[in-house]
Amino acid sequence: MKEKSIIVVGGGIAGLTAALTLAKSGKEVLLLEKNEKCGGLMSTFTKDGFRFEAGARALVNAGLIKPLIKEFDLDIEVLPNPITLGIEDNLLRIEGEESLLRYADLLKDLYPGSRPEVDRIIESIQNIIENMKVLYGANNPLFAKKKNYLLLLPSMICWMAKLMRTLYRIQKMDTPFEEHLDLLSENQSLKDMIGQHFFKKTPVFFALSYFALYNDYLYPKGGVGAFIQKLVEAFEKRGGEIRYQTEITRVDAHNKRLCDSEGNEYEYQKMIWTGDLKTLYDIADDEGLEKDSLLKFREKRQAILSHKGAESVFSAFLAVDLPPEYFREKASAHLFYTPDRKGLGTIHTLELQELLNRWDSVTREDLFSWLERFCRLNTFEISIPVLRDADAAPSGKTGMIISVLFDYELIRCIRDRGWYDEFTKEFEAQVIHAVSSGIYPDMREKVLFRFSTTPISIYDRVGSSEGSIVGWSFEEKIPAVTNMFKMADSVKTELPDVYAAGKWVYSPAGGPTAIMTGRIAAKKCK
Ligand SMILES: Cc1cc2nc3c(=O)[nH]c(=O)nc-3n(C[C@H](O)[C@H](O)[C@H](O)COP(=O)(O)OP(=O)(O)OC[C@H]3O[C@@H](n4cnc5c(N)ncnc54)[C@H](O)[C@@H]3O)c2cc1C
Repeated sequence: MKEKSIIVVGGGIAGLTAALTLAKSGKEVLLLEKNEKCGGLMSTFTKDGFRFEAGARALVNAGLIKPLIKEFDLDIEVLPNPITLGIEDNLLRIEGEESLLRYADLLKDLYPGSRPEVDRIIESIQNIIENMKVLYGANNPLFAKKKNYLLLLPSMICWMAKLMRTLYRIQKMDTPFEEHLDLLSENQSLKDMIGQHFFKKTPVFFALSYFALYNDYLYPKGGVGAFIQKLVEAFEKRGGEIRYQTEITRVDAHNKRLCDSEGNEYEYQKMIWTGDLKTLYDIADDEGLEKDSLLKFREKRQAILSHKGAESVFSAFLAVDLPPEYFREKASAHLFYTPDRKGLGTIHTLELQELLNRWDSVTREDLFSWLERFCRLNTFEISIPVLRDADAAPSGKTGMIISVLFDYELIRCIRDRGWYDEFTKEFEAQVIHAVSSGIYPDMREKVLFRFSTTPISIYDRVGSSEGSIVGWSFEEKIPAVTNMFKMADSVKTELPDVYAAGKWVYSPAGGPTAIMTGRIAAKKCK
């Protein structure tokens, strides 16, 4: 039996933030991670000299990453991560907020009949960005160095006041972005260009604020995984202990005991869970809970287990026999690219649903024809690590990650039919075809090797339901805190001395909220 006063389960960004915060304040912390390394949905790997991000392609600073680097004295260089937006052969490098006006011009050129609608949409984006600036624009005082607290007091009070006003306004803008865009335009193609790369029904304040976030991305030298490795080192330097390949399969909340898949037991005084909440509520033993807590726990369990995660992603990883200069001439290292202005229309919504409804009668031809249109008309997130960091690929060659949102349910049906390998190879080919038909024509014949990940492989690696990368689906009522005023409550559970953090406890989620909730959970444990 291993005993530690605080145990953190899960070594993703939420778990590492919590563990490091506690270790820094002198607590004895044990971090248990099911994989052979930390990072979860933020990790980097190398294949044949090509470095790729397995998860988030870069980090959104959001007033958190830089202060975190400073607070924990992480010795890491942060490189710029310029974003390009592209539709067909119209490419726009984002350089500050003024780019929004150039984006408006680009859209007007593409859709001359919808110029007033473009103006209305851009005005709405501007309005949302003004609000979100308060959230993302300044360093979050929660991550200020302790000795500076007094000096920071005036700015903290000012920040809090602005924050409260902003939070109030933001809470009112939580309608799905599709409904919001419907009020501003009737041109479906135009609306698709704005929103088809967002998760379905993303709240409008979150979706439309992304334009501001494009200016806020950064890339750690060595990759996102290098940043994670620095957090790991900082944690271990402060006496923290990590046990890898340790998957927790039982939580005995009454006796404050965890059990892993090998039968080892761990005792804790306080525990922070940062894996999937479905797993926690599934494996937690409610025996011994007091009546009130028991009722609340079972109610919450029912809600958690009956809801699904948001769409996941399909990612094609490519090693290309072309020099980085070929790609640099066309766009920056991080690109959101749509090969066709027509847009997806209902391909990823009604048509997908129709395919799933009649799955038993769907033929390979039906599926591959849907896939061809899905790829040709979609928006891809393209990341080219070597354009940020020269060490990321062998000399004269380029590694690329091209990804697109993808539904777990469909890939599950495909796997159950025995078509998984054939489908993923075809998907890779269609992605290459779509992108090389547009921005990078020479790429088609120059792919040295390729492989891909799907919602299923994401689920298998990090245990995230439906392969979700941002927690709960926005299509149903969310069984977690969604109100920014209540973020501090998001880490509470009905189990005594058990807190939770990460992408499942607060929505909308992503890297920044995983960090915030990790931090809050740690503070509750102190
Ligand atoms: C392709 C991609 C692009 C993304 N882009 C962005 C972006 O642009 N902006 C943004 O904000 N976010 C982005 N994200 C999302 C962001 O990376 C995640 O939301 C965030 O990293 C989640 O962190 P987490 O710690 O909550 O969860 P995770 O990273 O999932 O960490 C959970 C950890 O717990 C471990 N674990 C799970 N179950 C157990 C168990 N039973 N026992 C022990 N360990 C367990 C897992 O192995 C994992 O290491 C992206 C993600 C992906 C994959």
